[in-house]
Amino acid sequence: MPVYNECSFQVKYRRKIFEQIALLAYSNAREALYRLVPKSVVTEMAENTADNEVTSDLDYAAESCCAALGLEPVGYKDLFLDNMGGEHGKAMGNNVLCTLKSVCHKCANIQGRERPCAKACMCDAIKTDSLGSTVIDGTKCDSCGRCLLACPYGAIIDKSAIVQVIQEIHNGRHIYAILTPGLSQQFSTRFSEMELTEAFRILGFYDVVELDDEEESPRSGKGSACIGWRSEESREHISCCVSKIEEYRDGIRDEILYVCGYDPNACFVLVTPCVISKIEGVRLKDSLYVSYVLDFEELAGMLEARAVEKDLIRPFELESLKHISCTHI
Ligand code: SF4
Ligand code: SF4
Repeated sequence: MPVYNECSFQVKYRRKIFEQIALLAYSNAREALYRLVPKSVVTEMAENTADNEVTSDLDYAAESCCAALGLEPVGYKDLFLDNMGGEHGKAMGNNVLCTLKSVCHKCANIQGRERPCAKACMCDAIKTDSLGSTVIDGTKCDSCGRCLLACPYGAIIDKSAIVQVIQEIHNGRHIYAILTPGLSQQFSTRFSEMELTEAFRILGFYDVVELDDEEESPRSGKGSACIGWRSEESREHISCCVSKIEEYRDGIRDEILYVCGYDPNACFVLVTPCVISKIEGVRLKDSLYVSYVLDFEELAGMLEARAVEKDLIRPFELESLKHISCTHI
């Protein structure tokens, strides 16, 4: 599994957006979120990258920022204004993927070969608009994430819930982070598992529910279960066991119901180690009883925004930790 500090230019660009958005969201600077982030990201990335045309593209930055704010990147300037105020929580819904039209190359079907995104989709959910850009039909999409992996230009991305989660913290909700197995490995070069748990507290989370990967679940199988790599061609080579989120679904729900029994102000955020598990989590979020899903990149952006480093986590905070570990799952 790649650790989070090994990344390409586009990933760095995306993380910079997450960091800037988290910074402004923590500051409650809502208007600045919509007006300043795209320009500041473009300026900073242009200074640090000499030869990538993306850095001069404000449309790309604005669309990426829209997605990072949990919005559809269509008519983003109006949406920026329309979605200010209390609408953040409703912005994303269950449709987590979107297309960045500024970088969609409108790939054509050539010599009977389908576009990469359409070829990857097994649900016939990839459509084109009148200009040839890809559009995802939310009524058919089952959020498998394969088109996101298949697009060679990074034109399909997932929307974020960073602002919504930070807004809930500002609103005084008790935010419980539910950590899926594998998350701590993404941060292993930076924090121990215990330190990562405390880092959530510094970010404003109320407590952490950590799913224990050591207990063998009766629903688990053998081999990889990454839904992102399931295809007709590869099916025979890949395990048919359920994904981690599916495997832990009953345990997550049990734990949430338990916490809700004594904390009526609780709000739950599933935190996953990869974008595919995030997409799956968003699709299942109602049945999991979670309000939001974040992946490790969004978490990394929040950590950068709050400048959470190992040194910041003091020993006495670790001693006072009362995080819950779901070993019974
Ligand atoms: S989404 Fe990606 S693969 Fe699909 S048409 Fe656009 S650039 Fe091509
Ligand atoms: S996420 Fe999966 S089902 Fe949805 S459009 Fe992409 S490939 Fe198709």
